[in-house]
Amino acid sequence: MSAPEPGTRGAIVGIDLGTTNSLVAVYDEQGPRVLEADGVSILPSVVRYEQSPSSPGGVRTVVGVDAKDRAVEFPSRTLSSVKRLMGRSLSDARSDLDFLGYEVVEGTHGQARARVVFEDGSSREVTPQEVSGVILRTLKGLAESALGHEVGRAVVTVPAYFDDAQRQATRDAGRLAGLDVVRIVNEPTAAALAYGIGARAGADSTETIAVYDLGGGTFDVSILRLTPGGGEGETSFFQVLSTAGDTRLGGDDLDHLLVSMFAREIRALMAGGEADSSRLETGSTRNELDAFPASTRRALKMFAESVKCRLSEDESASVRIEINEGLVYERTVTRDEFEDLAAPPIERTLAACARAVRDARDQLGGAGVDAVILVGGSTRIPLVRRRVGEFFGVEPYTALDPDRVVALGAAVQGGILSGAASGSLLLDVIPLSLGVETSGGAVAKLIVRNSSAPARATEMFSTGVDGQTSIKLNIVQGEREMVEDCRSLGEFELSGIPPMPAGIPQLEVEFLVDTNGVLRVSAHERRSGKRASLQVVPNHGLTGAEVDRIEAESFAHAREDMTRHRVVDLIANSSLDLKWIGERFERYGDRLEEAQRQDLRARIAELGEMVERARADWRSVDPNEFHASKEALDLASVRLQEISISESLRGDGA
Ligand code: AMP
Repeated sequence: MSAPEPGTRGAIVGIDLGTTNSLVAVYDEQGPRVLEADGVSILPSVVRYEQSPSSPGGVRTVVGVDAKDRAVEFPSRTLSSVKRLMGRSLSDARSDLDFLGYEVVEGTHGQARARVVFEDGSSREVTPQEVSGVILRTLKGLAESALGHEVGRAVVTVPAYFDDAQRQATRDAGRLAGLDVVRIVNEPTAAALAYGIGARAGADSTETIAVYDLGGGTFDVSILRLTPGGGEGETSFFQVLSTAGDTRLGGDDLDHLLVSMFAREIRALMAGGEADSSRLETGSTRNELDAFPASTRRALKMFAESVKCRLSEDESASVRIEINEGLVYERTVTRDEFEDLAAPPIERTLAACARAVRDARDQLGGAGVDAVILVGGSTRIPLVRRRVGEFFGVEPYTALDPDRVVALGAAVQGGILSGAASGSLLLDVIPLSLGVETSGGAVAKLIVRNSSAPARATEMFSTGVDGQTSIKLNIVQGEREMVEDCRSLGEFELSGIPPMPAGIPQLEVEFLVDTNGVLRVSAHERRSGKRASLQVVPNHGLTGAEVDRIEAESFAHAREDMTRHRVVDLIANSSLDLKWIGERFERYGDRLEEAQRQDLRARIAELGEMVERARADWRSVDPNEFHASKEALDLASVRLQEISISESLRGDGA
C-alpha cells in the first residue's frame, strides 16, 4: 500500500452509508465509479460481534454478507439497520425498536445504544456511531484495496431529513473509522450530482428536481432546487425545499403481500381445497404465516422477493415449492396480478410526493419539476416508474443503477472538492456520435459528434425479415461505421409487434440528449402502437484522451468504413428487392413479354449472386457495380411493378 501521491493528498472517496447496504465510489478521469474489492461492491450494513480474547477489547467484528446471511443464527449479536439509531435518543427511536432483532438501551444523554449479548451471557454496549464506524472502516479498506493507496478523506451521504445530531453522529462514525469526513451531503443531492446536474459549468437557470427513493424498508422523496453558480468555475448549489416519506414502507412490503398470497394458497392446498386467488389485505400477513415454521416463512419470503424482481423484467414469473412428499405448490404470478397487489403501497408513496410538492409550493411558485431521479432497488419496478412519471409529468431518470446512484454522486462531490472533477466530460457538447445498429452490423448515426446538448433526432426504420414480432435496438457510440468498431451503450427490445411482411412495420426511433447529457432512446412502432425505451449516460467511463483516440481512428479508417457500410446497406436493400420482385415475378411473370421476362430473370440472378458474394466477403464486391446491378433490376422490374399495383388496386391484395 502506498501513500497518496505527493502534493495531491489523494482521492476523496464518496460513501453511501445506507440502512441496509453501503457503498464506496471514487471519481477519476473516467468519471465516477463504484469500487470493488474481492468481488464485493455492495456491502450489507450488518455487523456481527464475536468474542475474541486475542483482539483488542476482547471482541472482533464481521461485516457484510456473512454477517447478514448468518444473522438468524446470531440474532443477539448481529446488528443491522443501525442507521435508524444514529444520533437519536431512545425515546425518539422507540417506534423502530420492534423491527430490530437486538436489544437497544439508553446510553449517556439518553442516546440509543445497541446491546450485544454473547452466548455466555456477557454483553457489551455499542453506540450506533461505533457500529457505523466499523462499516466505514470496512469501506475504507475496500477502497484502499481497489485503488492501491491509502484513503483518508471521504464525502458521506445522509438522508435529507437527518437533523444536526444525526449528521454529527455520522461525522463521528467517520472519525472512528480513521476517515476525515470532509463533507456531509444529502442523499438526494448526491443522486442529482451523479446525473451531472449542478456539476456542469455554465448551467444557466434554476432547476427543480424531485428525488424519489424507494428502498427495501424506507421511502422518501425530496424536492430540490438547483441554483446555478453563474460564471465558469462558480459552484452551483442545491437547496432541499421539502421532504416527505415513510420510514416503514419499501420493497419488503411488496414481498410480504406476495408471501401472504402464497401462504394462504398453500394452506388451502394442504387442507385439500382449491387455491383461492383473491387478494389479501396487507395486515393479515402475520396470521397467515403463523401456521408455518420460521424456516418456511424465510423460504417463502425468498421466493416472493425473487418473483417480484423477475416481474420487473418479465410479464410472468413462476414458483414451485415442495411442501411435503407428493404435495407441490406451483404458481405463476403475472405482472398485472402483481401490479394490482402493489398498487396500494405505491399510491401511498405518491401521496407523500403530493405532500412534498405542497410543502415546496411557495418556493416553486406554480412551476413543475424539471427532472425526476429514481433511487433505491424498488424503483426498478415498472409500475413505480410509470406512476412516478405520471405523477410528476416528467419521465424519470433511470440511466444509472438505482442502488449506486447515491454513492456515485458522493464521489462526484468528492471529485469536485479534490479538484479531480475539473476537465471532466460533463460537457455541453456531445463528444462522440450516437446511433443505432442496423442490419448487417452497420451503424445509423442519429446524433453526430460535437452537436450541442440538448439534442434530438428521429429516424424511421423497419424490419428485414417477414413476420418479425420483436426488434432489438443496440445503441452505440463512436465514429466508425460498423458496430464492432463502436462502443455499445446498451440494448433494448421492442416486442409484441404483430407479424407483418418485412419492410412494413414503421419503427420510429428517437434520440434525445438532455442538458445533463442523459440519452433517452425511444422506439415506437406506429402500426401497432408498441413502445419501448432505454436511458443511458453516454459519457460515463470515457476520458478526454479516449475521445481523441476514437476520433483519430475514425479518420484512419474512414474510406474502408464507408465502403463497408455501403456494401452492408446494399445487401439489406437488395435482399428486400429480390424478395419483393421475386414474389411478384412468380405471380405475374407470365404476363410479361418474353424479352422482358428473360431480362428480369438475368437481373435477378445477377443481383442475387452479388448479394451472396458480398455476404461471404464484403471486400469481394465493387460497391459501384453492386449499386448498378441493383438499379438495373429496379429498372427491369418497372413493368412488373405496374402490373402488381394495378392488380392490388383491383383488390387482389398483392
Ligand atoms: P435498497 O434498499 O435500495 O437496496 O433496495 C432494496 C429493495 O429493492 C429490496 O426490497 C429489493 O427486493 C428491491 N429490488 C431490488 N431489485 C429489484 C428489482 N429488479 N425489481 C423489484 N424490486 C427490486
